[in-house]
Amino acid sequence: MNRESDGERAVRAALDNLGIKYEPEKEIHFLKNDYKGSRRADFFLPKYNIYIEYFGGWDKKNDEERRTERARYNEKKEAYSNNGIKCIYIYPNQLNYVSSVIKKGIERLGNKVEPLLFYKNPLILSIVTAVLFLILSPLSYTILLMLLFVNVVLIIIFSVTRCSNCKRVFAKDHVSRDFEKIEKRPWEYRVETRYLYSDGSYKNSNYTEWRTRIERIKIFKNTKECIYCGYKWAEKEEENLDKATRPQTVYERKTGYRNPNTYRR
Ligand SMILES: [Zn+2]
Repeated sequence: MNRESDGERAVRAALDNLGIKYEPEKEIHFLKNDYKGSRRADFFLPKYNIYIEYFGGWDKKNDEERRTERARYNEKKEAYSNNGIKCIYIYPNQLNYVSSVIKKGIERLGNKVEPLLFYKNPLILSIVTAVLFLILSPLSYTILLMLLFVNVVLIIIFSVTRCSNCKRVFAKDHVSRDFEKIEKRPWEYRVETRYLYSDGSYKNSNYTEWRTRIERIKIFKNTKECIYCGYKWAEKEEENLDKATRPQTVYERKTGYRNPNTYRR
């Protein structure tokens, strides 16, 4: 039953590389509020008093199997958390950077990660500096607007990679992507015919009435996890399956009329 999986082997190799001592297949006894009473963890790190679980079945292709596996894993996590057991959970898509997951896990579990205060919050700092540059920009347009631009780029990067719980940036780790459903959504459009003067410049447009087309939107649920505080959240992702086949909505037609603006001269 306990033949080591490829994933477990990768975790073992990472622990060896990091020079961390471990005990494999470690039994945990006397669990409170858990019908099992005892469980077996994949690895135990005695120096840190931290366990490691590799969730190899998390992304099973078969829907039914995946659901069963995840239910089993979540039950285990709950049992550990009820008993104050510190554990690093590793998911299949993290296997190619498993060492860093382990290192950050040890850091996170070893000292409780507090949310950053507002004056240390990178996103707030970058917004404040951007506003400052904007206010000061009349002093020297080229330099300050350049700095402002760099700042705006930072704001975007920070907002995309931040954890909303502990406010740290570059904190987002991808855990899993699950198909949720296909939604039908109307897309409204009208066809525009643009008439051009003989020199190719714009004259006027004609529009058809509004039309509705029903498109299929594939919806995914992406589970993300903060590498610092372990906070988990879900992000929605949409993929429009019918966007590529949308009808053309703008046509151009050249007329024989001359452009009156150039004609007068
Ligand atoms: Zn966090």
